[in-house]
Amino acid sequence: MKTLMLTPCESDIKKAAAILKEGGLVAMPTETVYGLAGNAFDANSSAAIYAAKGRPSDNPLIVHICDAGTVDTIAKAVPDNAARLFDAFWPGPLTVILPKRDIIPYATSGGLDTVGIRFPANKTAQALIRECGFPLAAPSANLSGHPSPTTAQHVKNDLDGRIAAIIDGGICAVGVESTVVSVDEEGHVTLLRPGFVSLEELRDTVGSENVSMARGVVEHIGDGERVLSPGMKYRHYAPDAHVVIVEGSREEYVSFVNARRDENICAMCFGDEQGIKVNCVPYGITPAEQAHSLFDVLRSLDDISADTVYVRCPEKDGLGLAVYNRLLRAAGFETVRC
Ligand code: AMP
Ligand code: MG
Repeated sequence: MKTLMLTPCESDIKKAAAILKEGGLVAMPTETVYGLAGNAFDANSSAAIYAAKGRPSDNPLIVHICDAGTVDTIAKAVPDNAARLFDAFWPGPLTVILPKRDIIPYATSGGLDTVGIRFPANKTAQALIRECGFPLAAPSANLSGHPSPTTAQHVKNDLDGRIAAIIDGGICAVGVESTVVSVDEEGHVTLLRPGFVSLEELRDTVGSENVSMARGVVEHIGDGERVLSPGMKYRHYAPDAHVVIVEGSREEYVSFVNARRDENICAMCFGDEQGIKVNCVPYGITPAEQAHSLFDVLRSLDDISADTVYVRCPEKDGLGLAVYNRLLRAAGFETVRC
């Protein structure tokens, strides 16, 4: 299959919508990462998404809408706290998991009775969903296991020839995938995947007593243990090299990597360190910079061919928690303390 490269102009959005109406797949930009979109109501489109990505079929797809008013047509019940979250963060990088209606096929929900719903802020994504007239199921547009794509070129590298089209909307603003929460019947909110919408903001919106963080966000869950979100159990984002997270002060980190200068290593540092004497790749000083460049840097590590990459540990709150969560998966949870 030849993969068409499209732009966000009106005529290309129409072309992309025509492909989606026929059951084809289109990669679209969003504010988080690029999504691989198909008709969320069509089991065959969802099956094609899993096949194109090589994604395990029990890992559910997020359903993207372009109007908060359509949630009721997809979800059976919307607790007040879910509505509060929509008001506070939609359109934006927050996915809310609710009980699904029958219109969402099990092929889209990964066999679950719930569905993750998101109203993206990206104007191109909104225009595409509107033009289609149905919601779009869209996981990240990468091959399963690879870092998520934050440019059209990343998508092309992974999926060229496997999907009908890619809309090039430039570099994604946020750079890490959406915050995922579930909301139960009593309105309790559980954070399953941290993102740009932080744990602290969720607490401020619905009250801290109504928010908890799932096991697995920052802890390793053993094989065979039950997870609340299937995506938690898969190794992810991993470059070819062995990745290790290094905790400690800036000075301790510099001494740690310099002590290993005779080995074939790379320091994935912030960029504000002085005196690093090994090959280094900075991924940003502030959590926003780190989120923005994380996946591009992880992809670029494959060109460096270091045996081990020592990553300076990011902050663990706010947006830093999202960066830390992705790095833990890239490192297979391997962390050392200086
Ligand atoms: P991706 O679309 O690749 O960013 O991944 C979507 C993430 O959301 C995965 O970690 C999924 O396991 C999670 N997710 C989506 N829908 C649900 C659901 N209904 N229940 C639990 N987790 C979900
Ligand atoms: Mg993904």
